[in-house]
Amino acid sequence: MKLYLVGHDYRFAAEESVISLLGSAPSETVLSDRPPLRAEDESFITRIEPSKYGGTATATLRTGGKTVHGRAVYRRAESERETVRLRQHTLKLAMARAVEELGTLPAWGALTGMRPTKLARRLIAENGMTGARRVLRKRYLLSEERAALVLRAAEQGMLAEKELGDGYMIYLGVPFCPSRCAYCSFVSESVARSGALIAPYVEKLLEEIRLKGELMRRLGRVPKAAYFGGGTPTTLSARDLSRVIDAVRSAFCLPDGAEFTVEAGRPDTVTREKLEALRDGGVTRISVNPQSMRPEVLAAAKRPHSPEDVERAYNLAREVGDFGINCDLIAGLEADSAEGFRESLSRILSLEPENITIHTLARKRGSDLHRLGTEGAAARIPPPDEVARMLDAAYPALAERGYFPYYLYRQKYMAAPLENTGWAKPGTVCLYNTLVMEEIGLTVALGAGGVTKLTEGGKIGRITNPKFAAEYIAHDFTKGLSELEGALGA
Ligand code: SF4
Repeated sequence: MKLYLVGHDYRFAAEESVISLLGSAPSETVLSDRPPLRAEDESFITRIEPSKYGGTATATLRTGGKTVHGRAVYRRAESERETVRLRQHTLKLAMARAVEELGTLPAWGALTGMRPTKLARRLIAENGMTGARRVLRKRYLLSEERAALVLRAAEQGMLAEKELGDGYMIYLGVPFCPSRCAYCSFVSESVARSGALIAPYVEKLLEEIRLKGELMRRLGRVPKAAYFGGGTPTTLSARDLSRVIDAVRSAFCLPDGAEFTVEAGRPDTVTREKLEALRDGGVTRISVNPQSMRPEVLAAAKRPHSPEDVERAYNLAREVGDFGINCDLIAGLEADSAEGFRESLSRILSLEPENITIHTLARKRGSDLHRLGTEGAAARIPPPDEVARMLDAAYPALAERGYFPYYLYRQKYMAAPLENTGWAKPGTVCLYNTLVMEEIGLTVALGAGGVTKLTEGGKIGRITNPKFAAEYIAHDFTKGLSELEGALGA
């Protein structure tokens, strides 16, 4: 698909729309003063024509032997910034209207971007719930279901913001896993390859925890929640888990009973001893992630465990501690089907976890699936309409069992242009997930790949830790502390 930008240079907005509306990036983007005399069969011509009242965006899509058109107008704005925002939105709307005429408009319509709840929160604040729904449907062409979904999740974001108050969150990354899953794009190293780094990594973590904890205590800041992710934190031994948990608790003065999540994502890392270490350290929530409950899907995803291993780990966790438990499932994995996904969900629902997170597969850079391109495994992932059927069946099933959506985000290169949604039973919402996805408040990050994020007045400041374990181990954290102190306005 060749993309033409006529009379404008909103390349990012137009390319983002092509990906969101048609599922893949344009093969070429051409800037031009006037429309091409002879457009290719597979082309999207976008044009903006300003007028004294504002302007008009038009889009012509030629695909599969058909030609369709979309058009949208914008009013004059007071500031240059607002003009740019309106033009970009109008451009996306015109492109979405063209695709709508084709009859293949995706559920998210003209809305692009990874965090649609942010827009939804603003719309609720400006227009109330009913008004926000109307704007999402009319101005962004969202389906009725997605408008309802994003508004429900946005409401949770608003509640979480209130609950956070002047508190902050702690994130700690453990970039090791027993082996690497086919779809994974995280900076995670398999134990077979990098196991020797674990011991020095833990020592460095303890040092970083001590330094940053001291700083936060000195500033009088009290954390509200902690989250260990990765990687798979339960790759660490029970002893190391206890050392790191205790260090975080005492260095940051994490209040007793505060939300504390540890991802125990891979059931092959879960043992009684480690669960006891989590329980004794005051961990309140864990993730045991099946991703699928079908053996052939797990094998294709290169996850060396069975559905029964998931159930064993889950039941062991129930036996050992009073954890809130989350289970992740991925829609769109290789060798799965709508029926298979329904079976996986039903088996997980019968376990009655507090939270269930439904991801849509994303073929992200850095994953084996991305590297394989469209050949082999990647060619055997279910088509987008089948992935959509997985979610269409899952959401009502979750609602029927008393779950509601509490956070939501989108990613690039999804197997279908849909979303990832966290579902929770009443009273079990994960504050950390909600706030992080909404980019609300301060998150102090520890460990390789961690990004300390500070949101203030709509602006987001970031301080990044070294990405890889080896770089992290060699890093001198005493030097970066002043940057964090400065960012916190101390
Ligand atoms: S367990 Fe999670 S972090 Fe580890 S390789 Fe698999 S997907 Fe990646």
